Amino acid sequence: MVFMEENDIADIEDLISSEDIKPKERYRNKKNVTVRPKKAVNGNVANATTEPEAKKIYESVIPGTQKIYVKTWGCSHNSSDTEYMMGQLSAYGYQLTEQKDNADLWLLNSCTVKNPSEDTFRNEIEHGMSTGKHVVVAGCVPQGAPKSSYLKGLSVIGVQQIDRVVEVVEETLKGHTVRLLQSKKEDGHRVAGAKLALPKIRKNPLIEIIAINTGCLNQCTYCKTKHARGDLASYAPEEIVARAKQAFEEGCCEIWLTSEDTGAYGRDIGTSLPELLWKLVEVIPENCMLRVGMTNPPYILEHLEEMSKILKHPRVYAFLHVPVQSGSDAVLGDMKREYCRSDFEHVVDFLRERVEGLTIATDIICGFPTETEEDFEDTMKMCKKYEFPSLFINQFFPRPGTPAARMTRIPADQVKKRTKRLTDLFNSYYPYAGREGQVYKVLVTEVSHDNLHYVGHNKSYEQILLPMRKNLLGSCVNVRITSTTKFSMMGEIIDDEDEWKKCSLPVKQQQQSSVQSQKSHSKMLIALILGLLAFIIQWLWRHF
Ligand code: SF4
Repeated sequence: MVFMEENDIADIEDLISSEDIKPKERYRNKKNVTVRPKKAVNGNVANATTEPEAKKIYESVIPGTQKIYVKTWGCSHNSSDTEYMMGQLSAYGYQLTEQKDNADLWLLNSCTVKNPSEDTFRNEIEHGMSTGKHVVVAGCVPQGAPKSSYLKGLSVIGVQQIDRVVEVVEETLKGHTVRLLQSKKEDGHRVAGAKLALPKIRKNPLIEIIAINTGCLNQCTYCKTKHARGDLASYAPEEIVARAKQAFEEGCCEIWLTSEDTGAYGRDIGTSLPELLWKLVEVIPENCMLRVGMTNPPYILEHLEEMSKILKHPRVYAFLHVPVQSGSDAVLGDMKREYCRSDFEHVVDFLRERVEGLTIATDIICGFPTETEEDFEDTMKMCKKYEFPSLFINQFFPRPGTPAARMTRIPADQVKKRTKRLTDLFNSYYPYAGREGQVYKVLVTEVSHDNLHYVGHNKSYEQILLPMRKNLLGSCVNVRITSTTKFSMMGEIIDDEDEWKKCSLPVKQQQQSSVQSQKSHSKMLIALILGLLAFIIQWLWRHF
């Protein structure tokens, strides 16, 4: 259960820069694609319940003639991976569609954190297969458990192989199975993943998500993500800074740094999160903002002083997501979280004291197998003490292959009862009550879920809903709060329109034309081949 309103932009924009590495250049030299002819398991994948429609097999694939539907589950790291895959497919000439029924191929990018999201992923595979679609799977589920029976016969793109999506899609359309699950290596060493400079189609063209590292340094007993993303591997600060610059040039006005643990960033390459952040703030244009993603308590503990300074920087949101998971030291020990409750409280107290208006979001797992009533009371007390404005409440899910899945579970009704008690506590306080009349500077970057408002965030990354006025998206404006709800505030703009600070550069046209020009190259190539064929036929006709 998640208690935080998220706001998505419905439109999908092409944002490909002319500086991007061209996928055709990259794929030209790829020789080691592992292609296995598709074995017909009665023409079916395991567990498909109905007789599947026959798939169309393409002998040769002409880019631009197939449509691809892409669906993503999970965290912002996964969203960023999808954006990269879509960018490459589009740049290569494939048409991306939101109409799944009209698509030739479905690319499904999965999340392995919770059972329900894996269940919907599995259902989607079965649906795709039964309706005659080619299906390619990606993300943490196939990476963490590639031998799962329901993935049999499917092409797989591993989490570190997203730069090879075009090869996998092409071969799959030809009826082959391609599975790329290897780690990315340079000079024999595992690296964080595909290059950050790849083309992207951003779900929200104003927000660039940068995954600064993959994996983590922990071994949490309930976590399946570790099986997929592995040990910590960080991108070089220069590569991250270059990507941030590129994103601002392409019209973004907000950067989200993400990873499985941003606090651990850099430990494998001799740097740290604060060092990276100080470099990044130098390239953030005025009125644009940076949001630091999720960090576990252990590794951020030694950077608290520097983090407090960075979170006060005018171009960095005073926001940190620090998942505590439990208020009981015994449970934290069984989870192997590598910290105790007082460590977490120290992080919160230290930063709240120094950073004005700091928002700390956290996560709780209710009903971990060894959690007693007393342990849960400790969690309740801690949540009551801090009244976190954003609290992600999850029931424990035993993920296959994890140590926690082998532990004896506590009865489901108790887990539900605890989840409800915590939910009731969360619903009992109103973090924004009494803010009417307050004035905030907000950066407007999103559209609300109900499509009725624009969403801006103040320095504390608190959500402020605004009327949908022309030119407001991508602007920084002063607003006065008119009313509040549990999750957000409503505001009115107090600046005249000529005082709005436009943060997003008007380069959308340019970005799209970059994709268009690649697409038109494909079309020109097809025309050229057809012309050549016509000439050869004519010549043969005349001479024989
Ligand atoms: S820190 Fe723990 S929960 Fe997070 S990805 Fe690593 S092992 Fe999983």
